[in-house]
Amino acid sequence: MNDCLFCKIIKGDIPSDKVYEDELCYAFKDIAPTAPTHILVIPKEHISKLDEVTPDNSAVIAHIYEVIAKLAKELDLKDGFRVVTNCGESAGQSVFHIHFHLLAGRPFAWPAG
Ligand code: 5GP
Ligand code: ZN
Repeated sequence: MNDCLFCKIIKGDIPSDKVYEDELCYAFKDIAPTAPTHILVIPKEHISKLDEVTPDNSAVIAHIYEVIAKLAKELDLKDGFRVVTNCGESAGQSVFHIHFHLLAGRPFAWPAG
């Protein structure tokens, strides 16, 4: 996926503020944070959006949640955090490489708008 912004970030073609990396996923600070902590966690494999997750590629999604739990401990997010994945333009997805927003450091309303 040569055209994908987040694939370019993973490759290092576009700079990012890396928080964590392993063989399966990459985590970096959002360029336009909406909370004091705003990290994006993405699989290295290109999956466009959540409705493209299947039994063949879902292991990386479980792994990403393990990484989020680890980051939450390391970053001491004991006051709580929110994980968001927007799927599709009407839900607010603007980059079509699946990503998990890890948000913390302020109160969050529910239901989300
Ligand atoms: P979405 O709207 O698809 O759920 O989330 C995309 C996120 O990617 C947005 O929060 C946006 O600020 C972030 N973003 C877009 N372009 C870049 C970029 O070049 N670098 C970084 N670090 N974040 C980006
Ligand atoms: Zn991609």
